[in-house]
Amino acid sequence: MKKYDVVIIGGGPAGGQTARNLAKKGHNVLLVERFNSFMDNNFSSAGMTLEPLKEFDLPEHIIGAYWSDITLQCTKKSYYWASDTKQGVVLDYGKLKQFLADETLKFNGEVLTGYKYISKKVGDNEVVLTLQKNKGSETLQVATKLVVDATGPIRKVMYDTKEKQPKMDLGSGTEYLIEVAPEIYKQYKDRLVFFLGHKWAIKGYSWIFPMEQNILKVGAGKVHLKSKEQENTDKTTKKITEQIIKEYLKCDTYKLIDAHGGIIRYANGLKDKFYENKVFAVGDAVSAINPRGGEGIRYAMQSADLACVSIDEFLRTGKTNFDNYRKKWRRRKLFKWRLSEISSQRMYSKYSDEQIENRVQFFHENFSTQVLIDSLFNFKYNQILSRIYQFIVLKVKYKFKKEQF
Ligand SMILES: Cc1cc2nc3c(=O)[nH]c(=O)nc-3n(C[C@H](O)[C@H](O)[C@H](O)COP(=O)(O)OP(=O)(O)OC[C@H]3O[C@@H](n4cnc5c(N)ncnc54)[C@H](O)[C@@H]3O)c2cc1C
Repeated sequence: MKKYDVVIIGGGPAGGQTARNLAKKGHNVLLVERFNSFMDNNFSSAGMTLEPLKEFDLPEHIIGAYWSDITLQCTKKSYYWASDTKQGVVLDYGKLKQFLADETLKFNGEVLTGYKYISKKVGDNEVVLTLQKNKGSETLQVATKLVVDATGPIRKVMYDTKEKQPKMDLGSGTEYLIEVAPEIYKQYKDRLVFFLGHKWAIKGYSWIFPMEQNILKVGAGKVHLKSKEQENTDKTTKKITEQIIKEYLKCDTYKLIDAHGGIIRYANGLKDKFYENKVFAVGDAVSAINPRGGEGIRYAMQSADLACVSIDEFLRTGKTNFDNYRKKWRRRKLFKWRLSEISSQRMYSKYSDEQIENRVQFFHENFSTQVLIDSLFNFKYNQILSRIYQFIVLKVKYKFKKEQF
């Protein structure tokens, strides 16, 4: 049986970044992915700002397109924020995963694709893992000092028996990768379009993101929360995606390159297990994804970086300060993620169509592209809060003056 310092289960951004980091530090790692190729299961839209490129030293070849502008399309009107400079990227998610696996190999780590994790036996000094070959019954056993659960929303390693999981909200999404006519692509090549409101979205938001020449990602995501406003509808994320392609993009003919989708399972209040009994969890497996926008790649990789600090310390010195990982992550994210929970519940399941339109209109009248990007992607609300404060003060003053007369 082969022995490793760390076996990482799941080759998404969280698992890939964990394997890359630990291999770079000289540890003996194995990265296991159940799909045969990292280009399979290419489900993520992978839109983000420019910061993660520097933060994780990501290369140019994994970028599908750059974006500079944002459109928020509501049921009645369209609201447009322009910018003269590049503000973000849409990555090829498959290429990102492949790059992280290649880096793991470059630093002498091992990568095993086409095998899925089945079970673990935890002993005093090591964990024995059983892996099974895809589409077959052939199994393989490996031993390791620590395991990392990077299986995303299914959290397969941390909860592989019938252990109770924390209460979770569910989200799901559908996305079509399509090739369109050059004149249509030209209109969308530099911008992200988000759809809010009941015409173009259902209990969530929909999107059009650019990729390389003539290729667009069109999709819709929903949260599975009860909503008085939107209960009686036969709309699905698939139907909305097709509606956007036909009615919004006005694409009668297009080439469907790939249709994919995925789920999100998010534990409110970040109540996941981060470490237990020689198992660390990273990425979506600890609800690293932001619950409002469903942006998760950057945070999956950040959680991997933080977990690696504790893992590396243990492998070098034997110190088991494992709870530091959970504490530090919650200190950094809990408050911001709590605010996102509240705003997503309001926006996606409580507000009427008119309330959504009014809020977007207010935002458009009062805030610049940078403030929009800061609030959507960076969770910085200073300018918004001060403008709302000014607005309330003005209203109170006006009311006071009116009463005096
Ligand atoms: C439709 C959709 C659109 C999204 N768009 C964006 C976006 O625009 N920007 C953004 O930042 N985020 C986006 N996200 C979220 C983002 O993709 C996730 O947060 C991110 O991929 C989480 O990374 P992860 O590594 O934790 O999990 P995952 O990416 O889910 O990776 C988990 C990996 O584990 C493997 N695995 C699972 N079980 C086993 C097993 N038993 N054995 C071996 N391997 C296993 C899976 O095959 C997978 O490769 C989107 C999500 C969805 C569903």
